[in-house]
Amino acid sequence: MRSVWQNGQLAILRFLEASEAMTAEKLDVELIPAFRDNYIYLLRVPGSDVVGIVDAGDATPAIAELDRQGLALTHIFNTHHHPDHMGGNDALKARFPDAKLIGPLSETARIPGMDLTVADGDKVEFGPLSFKVIEVPGHTRGHVAFWTEKGAAVFSGDTLFAMGCGRMFEGHAAQMWNSLGKLKWLPSVTRVYCGHEYTQTNARFALTVDPDNRTLAARAAEVDHLRAAGKPTIPSTIGLENETNPFLRADEPAIAKAVGLAGADPVQVFAEIRIRKDNF
Ligand code: ZN
Ligand code: FE
Repeated sequence: MRSVWQNGQLAILRFLEASEAMTAEKLDVELIPAFRDNYIYLLRVPGSDVVGIVDAGDATPAIAELDRQGLALTHIFNTHHHPDHMGGNDALKARFPDAKLIGPLSETARIPGMDLTVADGDKVEFGPLSFKVIEVPGHTRGHVAFWTEKGAAVFSGDTLFAMGCGRMFEGHAAQMWNSLGKLKWLPSVTRVYCGHEYTQTNARFALTVDPDNRTLAARAAEVDHLRAAGKPTIPSTIGLENETNPFLRADEPAIAKAVGLAGADPVQVFAEIRIRKDNF
């Protein structure tokens, strides 16, 4: 078992090292914990004065961190309309009136005060970097992800989690599978910053539908170590998610077989995995 574990761990280290080598000095991302398990992200680009905040459900910890570092906020990004992701917008705008609030065009009715509304394929300039908008409906109708190729990072909100995916509150399985499929093909070194620290539970569930996946087993053990030490498990990478996230792997014969759906359409397998996770 020891060598099996080590093989999996080596795979994880390769992904992380490749990611670090590609992204050094391009986009700095700091995690700001909020509520019970949300992450707000603080974005900076070395050598530039752009300062971004992603999904501030609560403005208080975000403003505290900005003030602590003496930073003037320039961009507020919203992935979707849920209060734990946009509840801090008004207070952030009140404190930093020049900051631009950016969110999905299709959620204009549910996200008040947007300065820039975006749709699939749109680009958002962020200093020397730019974000491409990827529409990923399923968790909510108007959910978007923000991806920077040069910065090698994607902010996936409540669509793609580390080893998991969001609940389908306003969508169906085919739609969510399609949305996840858009993220699956991003460069494997892309760092994944998701909306919640759900990783440990996700790993436990993933092992029930992908029990022979050695990289998954190794990652689950690594996640247990990190959580026991009180450390975040974020970011992941697209490469690591493709190896270990059952919701990206519903087209793998081994997973179809494990849920009793050998040979079935991936959408059907995905729907079954999502139902099992809802009841896990
Ligand atoms: Zn949500
Ligand atoms: Fe959320």
